[in-house]
Amino acid sequence: MNEFASVIVDISHEKVDRPFCYKVPPQMREILKPGMRVRIPFGQGNRPRTGYVIELTDESDYPMERLKEIEAVLEDADVPQQRLIALAAWMKEQYGSTMIAALKTVLPARQRVKQKETVQIRLAVSGDRAGALLAQYGQKHWTARERLLRELVREEVLPRELVLQKLHIPAATIRWMEQQGVLLQDSRPCYRNPVKAALQTGEQKNLSPAQQAVADSVLSAYDQGQRRPVLLHGITGSGKTEVYLALIEGMIKRGKQAIVLIPEIALTYQTVMRFYRRFGDRVSVMNSSLSAGEKQDQCERARTGQIDVIIGPRSALFVPFPELGMIVIDEEHENSYKSETMPKYHARETALQLASLSDAVVVMGSATPSLESYDRAKRGEFSFYRLTERLTGGQLPAVHVADLRRELQAGNRTIFSDILKEKLADCLERGEQAMLFLNRRGYAGFVSCRFCGYVCKCPHCSVSLSEHREKMRYGGRTAVANRLICHYCGYEQSAPTVCPVCHSRYILGFKAGTQQIEQQLSQLFPKARILRMDADTTRTKDSYENILSAFANRKADVLVGTQMIVKGHDFPDVTLVGILAADLSLSVGDYRAAERTFQLLTQAAGRAGRGKRPGEVVIQTYQPDHYSIRHAANQDYEAFFEEEMTYRRLLSYPPAAHILAVQTFSEKEQEAQEAAQEAAQIARQMAADGALQTVVIGPAPALIGRINDVYRFGVYIKDREYGRLVEIKNAVERMRAGQESPLGSCQFDFDPMNAY
Ligand code: ADP
Ligand code: ZN
Ligand code: ZN
Repeated sequence: MNEFASVIVDISHEKVDRPFCYKVPPQMREILKPGMRVRIPFGQGNRPRTGYVIELTDESDYPMERLKEIEAVLEDADVPQQRLIALAAWMKEQYGSTMIAALKTVLPARQRVKQKETVQIRLAVSGDRAGALLAQYGQKHWTARERLLRELVREEVLPRELVLQKLHIPAATIRWMEQQGVLLQDSRPCYRNPVKAALQTGEQKNLSPAQQAVADSVLSAYDQGQRRPVLLHGITGSGKTEVYLALIEGMIKRGKQAIVLIPEIALTYQTVMRFYRRFGDRVSVMNSSLSAGEKQDQCERARTGQIDVIIGPRSALFVPFPELGMIVIDEEHENSYKSETMPKYHARETALQLASLSDAVVVMGSATPSLESYDRAKRGEFSFYRLTERLTGGQLPAVHVADLRRELQAGNRTIFSDILKEKLADCLERGEQAMLFLNRRGYAGFVSCRFCGYVCKCPHCSVSLSEHREKMRYGGRTAVANRLICHYCGYEQSAPTVCPVCHSRYILGFKAGTQQIEQQLSQLFPKARILRMDADTTRTKDSYENILSAFANRKADVLVGTQMIVKGHDFPDVTLVGILAADLSLSVGDYRAAERTFQLLTQAAGRAGRGKRPGEVVIQTYQPDHYSIRHAANQDYEAFFEEEMTYRRLLSYPPAAHILAVQTFSEKEQEAQEAAQEAAQIARQMAADGALQTVVIGPAPALIGRINDVYRFGVYIKDREYGRLVEIKNAVERMRAGQESPLGSCQFDFDPMNAY
């Protein structure tokens, strides 16, 4: 038995991306298991290569005399690794990528690293002395020293890793304070008593009856063997995180481990600290700034049972726990859960698959669930729970909608509506804080009328047309300046110079940026202290957290920023949130525009009034009647869902159907276009042969047709059945594999997050 092994060779090359059959030498037959890394002779020169065993069999279709033998086993594979290899195979099939790319995604890069000890930082002075030092540091404006000392007074012990990475304290500061005898560093394991720590910090909260009911119900379903995924819909600040903590504690009591996915941008010191306080050094954090060695180290700690909980962005999913019990996905609607590199997997779907391979349960939470998840919850595929009240006593804010068309008609040409100016003045007067948010997500030059709010849309796809100003050629045609193009179907027209509805001349692209807002704001309110957060001000590594902590420490009155400011911190003194142009994300040329707008507006509104004082929100828009804006203003998720679903059904967009985007690339424009045409042709043929529901759209040049001299084209294929799209993907792959020299390169994106 187990005479033959299918092995994936560790080389990134399309031609070798299939299993090769090897003989298993008799002495290896007992020990060889799928998932193991082996050394094999490969190619004509029998060069030694490494590979992964995918499968073991008793038969082979190849003639015995031509088969080579496995040379050596390089590494054992435990159950979690075998599961990850099965997961990689599923990802390759579901999302279209090479097997080796899928394996590299799920398995940590192998580097020889010394096992690093976890170093703890402890307070080494008495409380009184610490108080005196705090005052001294404050006087001298030693902000990093002050910040670290304050946290140490609160926590007593802190993991060094967390201090460096999340609290952004320089190593030199730690060293200096150690030399001064203020703190100690040691690598003793720190068995914190979670209850003691929690009592000290007031963190131990009795769950509210609503929270308790959710936690009890999920755990008792788990005990009864139910593994149906859970969706927790809870307004911002309703205590979802507290429920996750209780659930994870329940898992640990049952001898299980948990993975917690949190979007990288929300992985702040405060969030991470809540987990540390509860689980001490049984928890670890994964993030993109870790080196390959550090990531591997985390995996090793999980594998050997040193930790029970990992928190991190989507890649934390691949941390190999021996007894995985639960995967929590916070902010499950977030776009960052979709990978933008091959394989373009969605962490939510992949988590569901991993959970079913591991007998674990997935718990998803959001204030604005994705349509996909809410739809599945409604159909009973997910268990559904709701939290409808804020627990800090704060109420949901009052929302005002300012109609920018009226402002213009009344002669107001500034970025700020009258009501926003008024509310800002009041807010500053009272000494409270405000956030101004410019909604620029995925902003792509769309064209709209400032006078009536009309937006130029594709007559076929119902998404906004994008303005192309440069001269660009594609498909033998030349698109000259100011053409409007649909990036799903390639429809194009010239940009109108007067509004087709109201005939005004105020029809143009939107250009205001955060910098302009900052300028106009300081003219209006010369005394206000303003902080700006956007791509420009957050170039350096720590600037993001630095701006947030400066604002949290009341070093500014107004924070102006892009969607970056919507997530993460709680600012109890913010009582006013202004959304400057709610329409911007609404007019992005892709079908998720309304959903994204609703999410952003709801999340932004959720920032106001988190403390004791009530909050207010002003939404400025050219389209006050648009349903995503109306429902966001009323904070009515259910109504938004129903209206948006009607539209998705009508136009067969997810979740009513699925979309496969086939994307082709080449330095030669014609090659990229022909490759896309070939793919479209195969899809059309299969559509004609099979299901009537398959719709093929395009090819069309990509949203940005050329990047770094590489031309890009896309074909969109829609079908109710995901499986049909997988078949089409496989057919395109087969066609290209059969070609002597396939045209350009080709990638697949299922249910894409952005217009291509
Ligand atoms: P969400 O994750 O839904 O935004 P959080 O779990 O962060 O909500 O809770 C919001 C706020 O309410 C936090 O400040 C948290 O400390 C507090 N909170 C949560 N649960 C309770 C509770 N049972 N009792 C008192 N305060 C709570
Ligand atoms: Zn108009
Ligand atoms: Zn179109």
